[in-house]
Amino acid sequence: MAIQIKNLEQLKSMRKAGLVVAHTLNLIRDSVEIGMTTVDLDLLAVRSLEKYNAKSSFKGYHGFPSVICASVNDEVVHGIPNKRVIQDGDLLSIDFGAIVEGWHGDAAISIGIGNVDPADQKLMDVCEESMWQGIAAGKNGGKLTDISQAVESYINSQGKYGILREYGGHGIGSEMHQEPHILNFGKGGNGPDLIPGMALAIEPMITRGTEKTKVLSDDWTVVSQDHSRGAHFEHTYAIAPDGKPFVLTAIDGGKAELSRLGVEISELI
Ligand code: MG
Repeated sequence: MAIQIKNLEQLKSMRKAGLVVAHTLNLIRDSVEIGMTTVDLDLLAVRSLEKYNAKSSFKGYHGFPSVICASVNDEVVHGIPNKRVIQDGDLLSIDFGAIVEGWHGDAAISIGIGNVDPADQKLMDVCEESMWQGIAAGKNGGKLTDISQAVESYINSQGKYGILREYGGHGIGSEMHQEPHILNFGKGGNGPDLIPGMALAIEPMITRGTEKTKVLSDDWTVVSQDHSRGAHFEHTYAIAPDGKPFVLTAIDGGKAELSRLGVEISELI
C-alpha cells in the first residue's frame, strides 16, 4: 500500500488528536503513584478521552481491551492494564493513541516510579533521546532509513542495549498503523523518500539486556527473554507542506528538543 500523504487541513486534525495524546500522557505522568494499579491509569485515560470528545486508537484494535498499553519492568510494550500494584522502583511504559475527526495520534512515555535505579534512568534517557535523534534525522528530502540509522547509532553510542527487532515505528494517519514500517536499526539512505505530508510515529524500544522478546499467554504483552527491563518512547511527527517537521504529539510541536538538535519546526500546523 502507498504511503498516505496528508494535506495541511488533515495534519491540523492530526494535531488535535496529538494534543489529546500529549495532555493524557502528561496527566498519567503527573498522577501515577506507588499503590495504584495500571487499570487505574487506564481509567484516567478513558476519562481524558471523554473530556476531549476523542476516541481510543487502541481499544478494540485486533481485540485489544484497553485504551492504554501499560508495560511494567521486563514488559517492554503492549502490556494490558491489570490489577498489578505499582511498586517503588518500577519502570512503567505507557503507550496511548487517540482519534479526532477520524485522524490518529500515537505516543508513548516511560516513567520511573519513586526510587529509580540509575541504570533504569539511563535506559529511559537513552531511549527518549534516540527518538529525538530519529525525528531530527527524518528530514524532508531524506530517506526513511536515515531515521533507523540515527536511532540505532545514538543508542549504541551510549552503551550496550538490546534494540527490539520485531517491533518498530510506522506511518500514521486515518489508521493508527500504516505504511511504512520504520526499523529502529539499519543503515541510512534506503527506503522511500521523506516528503511533505508524511506522518510517522517514531518509537524506539530498548532493554538493558537482550533484544530477544517473547509474547505472554495473554497474546499481547511483550517481555524481554532475559527479563531485563525495557523502555519505550514514541512521538508522532509530520513533515509539513513547507518541508519542516512538526511533532504532533508534543505540546510545543517539538520546538525545544529539535532546536537543540539544530532543526527548525514548521509554523504551519
Ligand atoms: Mg505506535
